[in-house]
Amino acid sequence: MSEFTTKEFNIFVAQGKLMGNRCKTCGELHLPPRRICSNCGSQQLEWYEFKGVGTLEAVTFNRTPSTPFKGRCPYAVGIVKLDEGPSISGLMVDEHPENLAVGSRAVFTVVRDGEKSILAFKTL
Ligand SMILES: [Zn+2]
Repeated sequence: MSEFTTKEFNIFVAQGKLMGNRCKTCGELHLPPRRICSNCGSQQLEWYEFKGVGTLEAVTFNRTPSTPFKGRCPYAVGIVKLDEGPSISGLMVDEHPENLAVGSRAVFTVVRDGEKSILAFKTL
């Protein structure tokens, strides 16, 4: 059985899966996965695959060529509130990131960057 760690989470991202976990006691969903339920404190958790569809809640533009996305400047990072509940940030891969609008529907995708796989979203 896998541990609920960032490492495991990133392995799933590399496989194209957006995996969090679900509390078996109260049903709370966590993304990224947590070891202890944030709602009830239970440690009875199981992996849960998110559909990866949600609504763009916030978007930030970065024009400074700093790590980890240098070479992609300018790029946008969005926070997407998934339909299942949790919000998570990801690189926005739209062709025209300056046109991204809060409230847009977005879907999880993966950007390959050499050896790395980056959690990303694109608008629908
Ligand atoms: Zn719980």
